[in-house]
Amino acid sequence: MNDPAMYLSTRGGIEPVSFRDAVLMGLATDGGLLLPSAIPDATPKLDAWRQLPYAQLAAEVMALFVGDSIPRTALDELTARSYATFRDPEVTPTVQVGPVHILELFHGPTLAFKDVALQFLGNLFEHILEQTGATLNILGATSGDTGSAAIAGVRGKDRINVFIMHPHGRTSAVQERQMTTVLDANVHNIAIDGTFDDGQRVLKEIFNDISFKTEFHLGAVNSVNWARILAQTVYYFHTAFRVCERTGAPAIQACVPTGNFGDVFAGYIACQMGAPIRRLILATNENDILARFFNTGVYRQGEVRPTTSPAMDIQIASNFERYLYYRTGSAPEQVRTLMNQFQREGELRIDGCEEGIVAGVGTHEQTADIIRTYHKQHGYLLDPHTAVGVTVAERFLLNDIPTVCLATAHPAKFGQTIADIVKEDVAHHALIDGLMDLPTRCEFLPAEKSAVQTFMRQTLKRCDLEPRVCKAIS
Ligand SMILES: *Cc1c(COP(=O)(O)O)cnc(C)c1O
Repeated sequence: MNDPAMYLSTRGGIEPVSFRDAVLMGLATDGGLLLPSAIPDATPKLDAWRQLPYAQLAAEVMALFVGDSIPRTALDELTARSYATFRDPEVTPTVQVGPVHILELFHGPTLAFKDVALQFLGNLFEHILEQTGATLNILGATSGDTGSAAIAGVRGKDRINVFIMHPHGRTSAVQERQMTTVLDANVHNIAIDGTFDDGQRVLKEIFNDISFKTEFHLGAVNSVNWARILAQTVYYFHTAFRVCERTGAPAIQACVPTGNFGDVFAGYIACQMGAPIRRLILATNENDILARFFNTGVYRQGEVRPTTSPAMDIQIASNFERYLYYRTGSAPEQVRTLMNQFQREGELRIDGCEEGIVAGVGTHEQTADIIRTYHKQHGYLLDPHTAVGVTVAERFLLNDIPTVCLATAHPAKFGQTIADIVKEDVAHHALIDGLMDLPTRCEFLPAEKSAVQTFMRQTLKRCDLEPRVCKAIS
């Protein structure tokens, strides 16, 4: 089996499934993650792809992994619609700032890079549901950014309801407002009385309630969904083409600030496909499990410490298992053994080294310094996540190969953090500034499985029986 449009589990326990089933499945049923059974070689296509506008390039790249699941005309239409919501004609423009090129991934509806994947995933879900006549109820728990991007991806869609739990009072005011000001009838925000971990626990408990899960057609949008990774591979090609053309260089290197290893894994796939990328630079904040792994071969869990780049405050990277699969030479038995060992001992070890990835840590002080420097010297505001990347990238600059740093959020999303650092209230965006005046809708619930299930049951019953009333309530 080596068809990029048929999907296997990293743990080897499922029969190959189509792209469509892989998207709906999310996590593989054997507990592993889904991967295409082969990575297609894109090198013969690079010249034809070089000049394509973003949405067309996206359709070309994705077509290789989609197979018969989606007809080509539908795929073209899906990518066109998904990227029309971005405010820049280039969708993900790359600008030169000082010694690096900044790939701005934050021009989507919620001003964070997660929109690139979730705008597409929302439309993809809708397309698949229209074909099958089914409905889907998405349930998620968020600490901030994923929730708003997921909501923006599915708001107003007929066959989809979305329920997002956030920890009451523990996200930033901006993050909370980006979710609760969305009043579409199919969007249901839940403020949980508890922490993010409480939300995660409730989420797990509900997904483990198989009869509830089946009855209510529950689906997930977390970062393990293959379609999210796939959508992210596109901008690696896009920026490599643009920057090579601009500089005359044969290739780029790309620096990725990372938490769950999703974004950097997409870059890894782009490299394997033959994108002109010399190497990847992985950057973490002080939650450095991944940086430690790439520098020592030991993957060991640490305590999660809060930083100014909260979307990267992660010590178990949910996509790491996908990388492990390739690193072990596509050996699912070995992945199983390693993951079991990690589960038992909180640690796993791999010999040898990875040629294609270097890694480093941006500390709190270094990140603050680089935000000040880029602001003062280049008149460019880096959000704290992007700044972690730029900090690390500056240690790995090359003479002949341009360095592209992925900018994962608009600075205005973390405006207060930036104001504290540069001692000036400078990071603004009309979408963020306007949020505080908008009406909101949110359900406040205890962090209990039964309370959330009751709310879902009542809400869905109301929508089912009286769709118009449900719409009017918004
Ligand atoms: C989610 C997120 C990240 C981390 O991305 P991963 O795919 O989890 O590595 C970095 N920056 C921002 C702003 C994010 O929202």
